[in-house]
Amino acid sequence: MATLNQILKSVIEKNPNEPEFHQAVEEVFDSVLPVLKNQRDYVDARLFERICEPERIVSFRVCWTDDRGQVQVNRGYRVQMNSALGPYKGGLRFHPSVNQSILKFLAFEQIFKNALTGLPLGAGKGGADFDPKGKSDGEVMRFCQAWMMEAYRHIGHFTDVPAGDIGVGEREIGYLFGTYKKIQNEFQGVLTGKGLDWGGSFLRPEATGYGLIHFAHFMLTEVDATLENKVCLVSGAGNVSQFAIEKLLQEGAKVVGFSDSTGFIHDPDGMTEDKLRFLKKIKNGQRKSISAFADNYKSAVFTPAGEKNIWTLPADCAFPCATQNELDENDAKTLQENGLTLLAEGANMPCTPKAINYLQRSKVLYGPGKASNAGGVAVSGLEMTQNRMGRYWSKQDLEKELRIIMKDIHEKCLETIATHGLTDQDYLNAANIGAFEKVANAMNAQG
Ligand code: GLU
Repeated sequence: MATLNQILKSVIEKNPNEPEFHQAVEEVFDSVLPVLKNQRDYVDARLFERICEPERIVSFRVCWTDDRGQVQVNRGYRVQMNSALGPYKGGLRFHPSVNQSILKFLAFEQIFKNALTGLPLGAGKGGADFDPKGKSDGEVMRFCQAWMMEAYRHIGHFTDVPAGDIGVGEREIGYLFGTYKKIQNEFQGVLTGKGLDWGGSFLRPEATGYGLIHFAHFMLTEVDATLENKVCLVSGAGNVSQFAIEKLLQEGAKVVGFSDSTGFIHDPDGMTEDKLRFLKKIKNGQRKSISAFADNYKSAVFTPAGEKNIWTLPADCAFPCATQNELDENDAKTLQENGLTLLAEGANMPCTPKAINYLQRSKVLYGPGKASNAGGVAVSGLEMTQNRMGRYWSKQDLEKELRIIMKDIHEKCLETIATHGLTDQDYLNAANIGAFEKVANAMNAQG
């Protein structure tokens, strides 16, 4: 019988040169070690090895024609990670940094996140090393069509249901969906994040950001606190950050810092609904740098990306919503020394392992992305249900459902803390253990 550390070592050795995947695997391994040691009737240590092995990975050539008539080539992927709980489910990332390690880490995270939602969702992730930045609408469309020309044979509404992630929003989902529909001659809910008029769901764009703030709300309620008047920082240029800011304003928080890849804004007067409308306009409509925000509001100062980042600003709560490893141990230390009391992850794995360790050691409330950002995929799951039923639920229904799901995830974490004798508010281990047990149980039952 191999020792537990040999099992981890063999997983790492079997997947060389995949640092992001190793990071995600090691975090879960550390959390579930006591469960593996106990060898409960449905979890033997070898199951960990199985859960780390994707059920299937497809990688393929994507050829598309640019506006000058030249053929470009990119690499497309779909990682079908785990189908123990339902069809593979997870987003597509179009970004030049995309490689197999990044998609495997994201697909691995998705196993546990999707399990926590309580919905019948397996886990997957995909995308391409294509950079939509600076591309024309026509180029993006031709790229999406070419991606789907290959991927269609691997996906399906009961097989694998992709959605958006970095670089993939409603526009890209539209082109992908249109191509799939044409090939199959069927109007299926094969992608989520669709437009409202063509099979999408109310609240899908808002879901990750809103869900994140619901989760932070429940974390604070546990320690008899609220978000009201809390000074907050939110990083990231996408939907997640914009709707996290929107929900924070509704909760009466004061958002003084936000960012994109070009730098960050410090506005000590705080965000207002008007200012947020302006921010959305420059980000979504005009696709401009947030420096334009500082040109418009006297109280706001823009600092270009480089020597300083958003985490140098003093705040009570921080919400990293940009990308993996955007916040390191130094950032965590600076934030904590400046009075941080809560950090909840909107992005996937935005904190380095050392940053997480520092936050937990110094008693900052830490919400791991698997739990705190699960609202997005949860509403994707609800979009699948609506598509299968052939009807739309109202915005109010979805708002209610999202809040209930985030509350249930929070409660599930508290339950795991109690049953496993974890430290109070140890959401990291609770999320990993609770989700792992559920998936392990299902994998075991299915042989
Ligand atoms: N990309 C999102 C995530 O990281 C959403 C996935 C989905 O809706 O399927 O959870």
